[in-house]
Amino acid sequence: MNPFDICKPEETSLKSFFLGPQSENKHFIQNEILKILNHCWQWRRTTYPEDGVSITHEEQLEPLFVDKIHSTKQHVDELLELFSQELPKFSPRYMGHMFSEISMPALLGHLVALLHNPNNVSRESSWVGVDLELEAVKELCKMIGYPESSIGHFTSGGTIANFEAFIRAKNKWLQILYSNKDNDLSFNDACYIQGSSSLNFSPSEIEVYKHIKQKYKKEYDGAKLIVPSSKHYSWSKAASIFGIGESNLISVELNKFGQLCVKDLQKQIDRCLENQTPILAIVSVLGTTELGSIDPIDEIQSVINGYKKNYNYTFWHHIDAAYGGFFASLKDAGFFNISKTRALQAIQHSTSITIDPHKLGYVPYASGTFLCKEKEDYFNHEISAPYVDFQQKKDLGPYTLEGSRPATGAASMFMTAKCIGLNENGYGQILKRTVHVKNEFENQCREKHTPLAFVKTIDTNITGFAVIKNCKKLSEVNHMTSLLQSHCLSYEKHKKPYYFSKTKLGKNYKNLIENFCLQNKLDQDEEHLNLMRMTFMNPFSISKNSKTNHINGVVDYLASIIQTL
Ligand SMILES: *Cc1c(COP(=O)(O)O)cnc(C)c1O
Repeated sequence: MNPFDICKPEETSLKSFFLGPQSENKHFIQNEILKILNHCWQWRRTTYPEDGVSITHEEQLEPLFVDKIHSTKQHVDELLELFSQELPKFSPRYMGHMFSEISMPALLGHLVALLHNPNNVSRESSWVGVDLELEAVKELCKMIGYPESSIGHFTSGGTIANFEAFIRAKNKWLQILYSNKDNDLSFNDACYIQGSSSLNFSPSEIEVYKHIKQKYKKEYDGAKLIVPSSKHYSWSKAASIFGIGESNLISVELNKFGQLCVKDLQKQIDRCLENQTPILAIVSVLGTTELGSIDPIDEIQSVINGYKKNYNYTFWHHIDAAYGGFFASLKDAGFFNISKTRALQAIQHSTSITIDPHKLGYVPYASGTFLCKEKEDYFNHEISAPYVDFQQKKDLGPYTLEGSRPATGAASMFMTAKCIGLNENGYGQILKRTVHVKNEFENQCREKHTPLAFVKTIDTNITGFAVIKNCKKLSEVNHMTSLLQSHCLSYEKHKKPYYFSKTKLGKNYKNLIENFCLQNKLDQDEEHLNLMRMTFMNPFSISKNSKTNHINGVVDYLASIIQTL
């Protein structure tokens, strides 16, 4: 049964959350925005009414005043004109990168916070915003299955959220080693066996190096971060910015589906332990940036649990779910197959997690989150400022990498959690449709014999494909695909029929590329694979009412170009 033929009232009601490609819901949002503005003006007027006005009607009529107002109006017109050239990300024709429409609850939440402009660095500068942030964090923790006592904060995005995990994981490792410094433990035991002493301090890295040298007669050359080779480049940034250097990233092999290979993970951990090389953290990815694929998080967690059981070692397990985190709303819905379901259900056992509301949360930029299961891991590093009156462990300012932080992301997320719901009936319904749309696209390509081949991943709503028209060798496929890329992708600012993105899988995807060649009977004469990439996030990609069926449209569009290649 085609899931798009049925339009149950619950399905139709999802349309109330978005403005619509033709601004169909504009009356609703216009009224809400006006209500918000009026409320805000009223708030100002009634806060200190005894102060009286500061701008009089006469002043507003003075020629120079009128001039300035006129000039601002003109610049607004110019700005609007400039933005009419902006990339139309709202359109279902946009299927390129990880962004699309934003939801109306999110936009309204953002606007309210923007007009009141709190600074969530502390309760001194944000009376309401900080509480909204805690609420929004609580909702996200509930979605992924973290306990109520978990904690976290909003960041400007996934990159900073990953940095937040990095610095805490590193600090925890330094703390354990340092607090075990007077014990008679082997180096590995001292690194990973959590002592009973309080972890509430930040040992200086230099002190710890000196100690390692003195006690273990070892040159210390940095702890290793174990990441899948599908990692987002923010991990390379973290390694170089926070001083371990990119050479201390250990990239775990990917299997033929582009997932972290658990066997290789085990091998890499064992190698570190044999060489007495400290492990800073182990990262898995939920929704890879390239292909939206899901790592076997349950199996990775089992490997980590094994070290706890056998050696009493603890490793920090961070899940980079910047893209795929919201799929957790479907973890108990029976929607995904067993392996994906298990992976989603296992994220609650991780130490920390990154989720970007500004990706699949349909929230405006800039909105990322860092969530930490245990409070003691979250609060394990601290930097205070003398001029901010921080309330101990209530204000997050001393613990966040960023200083001033807006409440807009939190307010947007708060609103979407309340209005749409972070469960299978809310976000779950929206995301299910995006997965159906992706499947529909691939099916139509097959049915219409479009000469495209799709890469096999543990997929969500992103697809990667190459042109295989009359090709016998991978080099021919790469050539054809790059021709298609140059037809479909350009940086010129003009309206295009459809918008795509591209990627080039390299040696790190060796097993996936081999599998791709095998399935498409290609001679593998090159190491890389050029791909077209499409992200199906838009809630209106398939709509019964729209005159254009965008999936038919995009498949026919691709076919027409491939014909000319
Ligand atoms: C997008 C992404 C990031 C980075 O997020 P930003 O918000 O762009 O900083 C990190 N990890 C993964 C897996 C991502 O997809």
